[in-house]
Amino acid sequence: MKILVINAGSSSLKYQLMDPDSREVLAKGLCERIGIDGRLTHKIPAKDAKYEFEIPMPTHAEAIQSVLDALLSSEHGVIKSASEIDAVGHRVVHGGEKFASSVLIDAQVMAAIEECIPLAPLHNPANITGIRACEKVMPGVPMVAVFDTAFHQTMPPHSYIYALPYEYYENDKVRRYGFHGTSHRYVSARAAAMLGRPIEELKIITCHLGNGSSVAAVDHGKSVDTSMGFTPLAGLPMGTRSGDLDAGILEYLMGKHGYDMAAMMNILNKKSGVLGISGVSSDFRDLENAANDGNQRAKLALEAFQYGVKKLVGAYAAAMGGVDVIVFTAGVGENDANTRMAVASGLEFMGVKMDAQANNVRGKETVISAPDSRVKVLLIPTDEELMIAQDTAAIVKK
Ligand code: ADP
Repeated sequence: MKILVINAGSSSLKYQLMDPDSREVLAKGLCERIGIDGRLTHKIPAKDAKYEFEIPMPTHAEAIQSVLDALLSSEHGVIKSASEIDAVGHRVVHGGEKFASSVLIDAQVMAAIEECIPLAPLHNPANITGIRACEKVMPGVPMVAVFDTAFHQTMPPHSYIYALPYEYYENDKVRRYGFHGTSHRYVSARAAAMLGRPIEELKIITCHLGNGSSVAAVDHGKSVDTSMGFTPLAGLPMGTRSGDLDAGILEYLMGKHGYDMAAMMNILNKKSGVLGISGVSSDFRDLENAANDGNQRAKLALEAFQYGVKKLVGAYAAAMGGVDVIVFTAGVGENDANTRMAVASGLEFMGVKMDAQANNVRGKETVISAPDSRVKVLLIPTDEELMIAQDTAAIVKK
């Protein structure tokens, strides 16, 4: 089977054509500057080849058409006919309370995704545009929506309710939704596979630490809590996002500096997190270099982030009544041995014992705890595209 995975943003669109069974990525790439001018970067992993094109992309439809043309090209293509694409899997950010799993897209599903726009005003419209563009360019090809929020729909009410007047939940749908669900689901399933144990027997804490970061408690295969909330602004300090803070700070800063809500939200989303604390960068590589050169604020930013993750690990172990496995994934989790060590050290009291040598690794599935550690600590590279392709194939086969 060949599945085209699409992740549509407002002015960009990422794609992968893959075989979900063999896990082979036939081609992948990125359309950028949609609505401005248009640029396509197309890669064929098997040939280690990369091609770049300037192609007018007034809308997402031209972007999808350029992807299809690249996939079919006699010079840099990987398929002979568009009919070789069995289905398209779309990443959709917000499924609200309507979607607890991936679904085949039809008119009703589209309407439900549209109803979730107020919950994700920046993301869902772009995802919808991507779906509509595919419908136009590849009519009749089955399409599946895979939601960032779906995996966390198993959270019990006491995990997702905010302590606000209940009417804001009932009438306005204000609750914790959680994000990165496709990644938390993928790495928790891989963790069980790596250990050769059924996921139904395991209490797993998954740490997705990237530019955006979230931690999830996965109890017997089900998400029971996660650190992102109503929006992806909540939880840990991130590259540029503040994470959790005292809501009273908003009133204080807005009053003192005369910020309106848009200015305040811009500060919380774009100027905070480890960038805000350090004043150096949102990128953990820059922070480590600066900290090594003696920059105290870069050191503080790293410590605040690592402490935040450690606190969540403790909280989620308490929530599940124990923990069997801790997983690190995403850009920081996969590459930054120091952060993994800082999070997991000092947790010997709860059965976590790291292996410093095993932890000295990047980007491949590895057990990084000591052989006698009761809690297994794993590095597992995430693969949201593969998860989307596998969901899409399974739904289309049905
Ligand atoms: P996104 O949330 O945008 O998907 P990623 O999961 O790709 O982000 O993570 C990107 C981040 O990973 C970068 O901002 C950088 O901080 C971090 N990162 C990548 N490589 C390393 C490394 N070798 N050491 C430390 N951090 C790294």
